[in-house]
Formats: sequence, structure tokens, C-alpha cells
Amino acid sequence: MRLLLAEDDIMLGEALQDTLMAQGFVVDWMKDGQAALAALHTGNFDLVILDLGLPRRDGMSVLTALRQSGNDIPVLILTARDALQDRIAGLDAGADDYLLKPFETTELAARLRALLRRRGGRARPELRHGDIVLDPASQQVTRAGNPVVLTRREYMLLKELLEHAGEVLTRDRLEASLYGWMDEVESNSLEVHIHHLRKKFDASLIRTLRGVGYMIPKQDS
Ligand code: CA
Repeated sequence: MRLLLAEDDIMLGEALQDTLMAQGFVVDWMKDGQAALAALHTGNFDLVILDLGLPRRDGMSVLTALRQSGNDIPVLILTARDALQDRIAGLDAGADDYLLKPFETTELAARLRALLRRRGGRARPELRHGDIVLDPASQQVTRAGNPVVLTRREYMLLKELLEHAGEVLTRDRLEASLYGWMDEVESNSLEVHIHHLRKKFDASLIRTLRGVGYMIPKQDS
């Protein structure tokens, strides 16, 4: 899961980035509206946290431009407590949710999970595949009820594949969901994580479509 954070308050931005990364999200942080919009046009993100008061281009203008371009990425706006008109305008302009400043980061993380779940068309929070259960709230993975210990990237990779079970995910797509722009990507690291996941579960869990990408087959659960 890769988030774009558009926030010009440095202290808040740093705190959010740390909390969200600890929650298993990849976070790219932009400090003005122009940079945020340019980043969003790359299409590499699953969700946007958008402060409305941003330099160079305000959050409302970013949101309007985004929706006018046909981009339907989930957007959560951050607004000041007294700015009722901003919240209404933001929701009318196509935001999916909002949070009033100041807020608890744990509430933000829960709202993001809810937004991503709804976007995935799921009412149930856990992801299941056979006897494998991934719980995004606790970031725990179990198999037949027994905990499976995964590294942060293995967890993120498994989550991305399970959320798109039955779809082939390209290498570029998977790497975009695992690494932010500031992270170094080693050329074989995706294969290494896939290899470890297969060892921890089953070789057959993740299918390789040579030259195309990887998928976890869809299953009725
Ligand atoms: Ca601001």
C-alpha cells in the first residue's frame, strides 16, 4: 500500500510518516500542492492524505484537478476544526473522508484501513486465502490459526497480492507498492521476498507468470 501524504507542517508530516510506516504503509511525502498533484499523475498511489492548507496550490484545488482528470483514488482530507465550510466543500469536491486537526494517528490509520477496504469492495477487514488470514489492523498473519512471522516487506507484498487475488501484478506495480521514492531498490529484492514468502507458506501460493508478474490465484473463502 502506497500513500501520498500532502502536508506542509513539518512536525505533523514527520509524525504521520513515522506512524503510517509503522502501520505497514509506504509513504511519499509532498510539502506543497503542486508537487502533490504532479506525484499523483504518476498513478502509483493507493490513497492520498491531503491537507487543505498547502502552499503553491491549495488542497481543494489539488482535489478538484484530480477528480477532473478522472482519477478516483481515495482521498482523505485534513482540515482545521473550525472550518465547516471547507469540510463540506471538500466532500462535495470528491473527498472520501476527512479528519479534523488535531487528531490521533491511531484514528487516522483506522480510517485509512476502512477507506482501502471499501475501495477493495470488502466489508470484512481480514484478508483470507485458504487457511491463511491477514489482519491489517494488527498486521498479524496466521496460518491455520498459527502466527507466521513476516518481515515488513514480506507482509506488504503478501497483503498487496491478497488484495488483488486473481490478478497478475507486474513487477513495477509490486515494487511501487513496496518502496517509496527515497528507498533504494535492489534489483533482485522482489524475487527474494517472493522466495521467502513461498518458503514460509507454500511454493504454490504465489504463481510466477514469466515476463509478466506474479499472482495469488483467487479462491472462494
Ligand atoms: Ca497546512
